[in-house]
Amino acid sequence: MFGLVFEARSTTDGRIAGSVLLLSPSSGVGVFVPPFWWSVEGKASCSSKAISTHPVVTTSRVTVNAKTLVAVATRDINLKWGVNILMMICAMNPEGHSTMYSKQLTAEIQAAAANLDENQWPEKVLEVVRKGRLFGDSIPTRFGGLGSSPLDRVRIYEALARGHMSTALILTQHDGACELLADCDNEDLASTLLPRLADGSALATVGISQLTTSRQGGVPAMAAQPDGGDYLMTGVMPWVTSARKADYIVSGAVLPDAKQFLACIDTNSEGLYVDEPIELLALTGSLTSAVRCEGLRVSRAALMRGPMEKALGRRSTVKSLTVSSCGIGMAGALLDMCQMLTSNTPSLADLVNGPIVQHYDRVRRRFYSVADSLNDPAAEIPAMDVRVEINDLVSRLALSLMNVLKGSGYVASHPGQRLVREAMFFLVWSAPVSVQANTLSRMWRSPG
Ligand SMILES: Cc1cc2nc3c(=O)[nH]c(=O)nc-3n(C[C@H](O)[C@H](O)[C@H](O)COP(=O)(O)OP(=O)(O)OC[C@H]3O[C@@H](n4cnc5c(N)ncnc54)[C@H](O)[C@@H]3O)c2cc1C
Repeated sequence: MFGLVFEARSTTDGRIAGSVLLLSPSSGVGVFVPPFWWSVEGKASCSSKAISTHPVVTTSRVTVNAKTLVAVATRDINLKWGVNILMMICAMNPEGHSTMYSKQLTAEIQAAAANLDENQWPEKVLEVVRKGRLFGDSIPTRFGGLGSSPLDRVRIYEALARGHMSTALILTQHDGACELLADCDNEDLASTLLPRLADGSALATVGISQLTTSRQGGVPAMAAQPDGGDYLMTGVMPWVTSARKADYIVSGAVLPDAKQFLACIDTNSEGLYVDEPIELLALTGSLTSAVRCEGLRVSRAALMRGPMEKALGRRSTVKSLTVSSCGIGMAGALLDMCQMLTSNTPSLADLVNGPIVQHYDRVRRRFYSVADSLNDPAAEIPAMDVRVEINDLVSRLALSLMNVLKGSGYVASHPGQRLVREAMFFLVWSAPVSVQANTLSRMWRSPG
């Protein structure tokens, strides 16, 4: 009797790679590895061939497209010697696969980020993102992207943030720009730029906080004047992640009649000046800078939306949970380190593995129950509640980590204190006054 053990893991390019071991318990007879039959979208298909034979164990590598794999057949195979092997290969359940994929992605990101200077652009880590085609995750397939579901994207952001927060920030800003392009009123612009943005040969970002959360209430930080059929932009985008590396910035400006427009700006344009990267509390490697425009010409060809009252009134559903997705990933990274550092101190480990893990699990489950409904356009997403709960979780975990790090963790070179600093980003990232107020009131709910 032969037994078959199937082990599979997800690769970052969305496939499953695995090993199939054929075990011959005693006979020492050479094992023949037949092709494996897979039920892929209802069709039988087979892949893999033996790459080695061994008296006891034969391993065969298999790869299948995880997106299309819905079940795996159980099949009796009649070998040429008249021996029957019952092939039992577990069906991949989508939840199990997602978890496997996320863990694999986090591990690959962490490996690429090891020993990286946190102030440097994370090129090696971004290569993992590029290889996994994740620069196309937000881009519809008709423009060459993966067209990932909102839930898949949430999982990707969590996995990236757990592995390397700067990289997660760079991808979310690229995705933000791509989503606005894919949903803009200028199909020619979208179909020209998106294929290159999808395969990672060009990088995009957003410089829109001057229309949303930064410098509100006074004169517009970025103003524009009509000039013939064009517009001339003058002012500042106070925050632009990847500014020094991006090929395109999706930005917005306010006209004298208070109407706004969005445009896609080539970073080589005349009149565009990228400041030195800002020295930040953390995430300096994301190369976030202020970007200035001095009479920068925006032609009709670069116009995406408007002029209109609120150019950013329409955003994708994922946007409402993007920061929270990264937050839950950050929480995972903080918790992982808390667990690692307390593993030899039972009195601390009991607290971490007891109430702290329980709280994290509760918040994460709630987050995913909300994220699950992202695929339903009619669903109401309690994005604010989730964000505030995650802000609270991340802040508590950051303080807990500092508590267990002790003096050596307080040293600047220790990766633990880097995580603590990165956690503070969730208090300021895309945080309008309503998020600030709710976060404060949750933190100080019955402080005595
Ligand atoms: C690392 C990093 C990366 C980012 N990347 C991007 C990006 O790629 N694209 C993008 O569009 N945005 C980005 N942002 C911007 C971010 O999403 C928020 O818009 C930003 O954090 C808001 O902070 P602010 O200081 O600009 O807010 P502001 O509201 O301008 O606040 C500035 C200061 O003024 C004070 N203040 C505000 N209003 C008043 C008032 N009425 N009276 C008195 N004082 C007031 C505030 O308390 C604060 O101290 C990034 C931010 C960071 C930190």
